[in-house]
Amino acid sequence: MNNLGYYNGKIGPIEEMSVPMNDRVCWFGDGVYDAGLCRNYRIFALDEHIDRLFNSAAMLDIRVPLPKDELRELLNSLVRKLDTGDLFVYYQVTRGTAMRSHDYEPTPGNLWVMIKPAAQGDFAGSIKLITVEDTRYFHCNIKTLNLLPNVMAAQKAKLAGCQEAVFYRPGGRVTECAHSNVHILKGGALWTAPADELILPGITRAHLIRSCAALGIPVHQEPFTLEELFAAEEILVTSSSKLVCFASELDGKPVGGRQPQLRERIRQAMLEEYLEATEV
Ligand code: PLP
Repeated sequence: MNNLGYYNGKIGPIEEMSVPMNDRVCWFGDGVYDAGLCRNYRIFALDEHIDRLFNSAAMLDIRVPLPKDELRELLNSLVRKLDTGDLFVYYQVTRGTAMRSHDYEPTPGNLWVMIKPAAQGDFAGSIKLITVEDTRYFHCNIKTLNLLPNVMAAQKAKLAGCQEAVFYRPGGRVTECAHSNVHILKGGALWTAPADELILPGITRAHLIRSCAALGIPVHQEPFTLEELFAAEEILVTSSSKLVCFASELDGKPVGGRQPQLRERIRQAMLEEYLEATEV
């Protein structure tokens, strides 16, 4: 298969799949999701992603319809149906199926999976960013399907010829990006926003923190501001689909590029971890 859709046991090409109108996701965006890269049919950091999916679901009283080990086995078997092993693997659990009503009965969730080919790169090269005020709510640590501010920010970035939008709160605290986490190198150390309710605890952020620690780079999990972002030695953007990227432009102004060796060591360390974990 070229791509794959899965819904509660039914499998088919994504374009041919249909779902019940009463899936609560259609009325309320009532669900949680997770996603990551796969190389050589090996899904990267799968256990970490499944743990986060279950945490997101538990925080919203959503019932994942199968245990963790069965979900792992299912995803590992589904990727084998694809023509290539280099893939993007996305899965979500929605609260269930019912007539529209804000309150709910505790029914088993619906499991969706979407798998499509993903180009594998060396994640070199730099990206351009814009800043956008973070008007999201205070549950950004839960990976829910309520992504409208993220969608609007990502579109604004695209229209500006950029690859990501950096969110900041009133007062200037930088939180994260539309679909990535953002970090800075300052004084040779890594600064990354604390994993509170204002950011998603990125799996790649956790890998970055571990890589920096292994490289002897000090790590500060503390808030930083827009001013510090503009003045940073490097700006790093992490996500499961792009691992780590570095920014060269922010709101049309040149940024970063002042720690090229440190930046390359970080990129190499993260790339090596990915390649080793997905080797056959
Ligand atoms: N922040 C947001 C809002 C995201 O949507 C994502 C990824 O989808 C991330 C951060 C990065 O998280 P991860 O590294 O787990 O992909």
